[in-house]
Amino acid sequence: MKGSIQIDKERCKGCVLCIDFCPEDCIRLSEELNLKGYFVVVFDDGKGCTACRSCALMCPEVAIEVSKS
Ligand code: SF4
Ligand code: SF4
Repeated sequence: MKGSIQIDKERCKGCVLCIDFCPEDCIRLSEELNLKGYFVVVFDDGKGCTACRSCALMCPEVAIEVSKS
């Protein structure tokens, strides 16, 4: 199954838990700051997201939504 995620940048606190728990290495830390001053994470669509939802389940800020495609 192919998937993608949407990250709410203003909720993200750059804790990188989602990066640690993504089995497909689809998420990375960017150099972009949100309004609260945290570096936010971004999704890499080319890495084979399977819509497993690990990232969304681990995010303490509920900043990630997963879509199946
Ligand atoms: S787990 Fe949530 S708050 Fe932490 S870096 Fe990922 S999206 Fe941001
Ligand atoms: S849904 Fe799974 S594969 Fe897709 S970005 Fe999140 S943890 Fe990675």
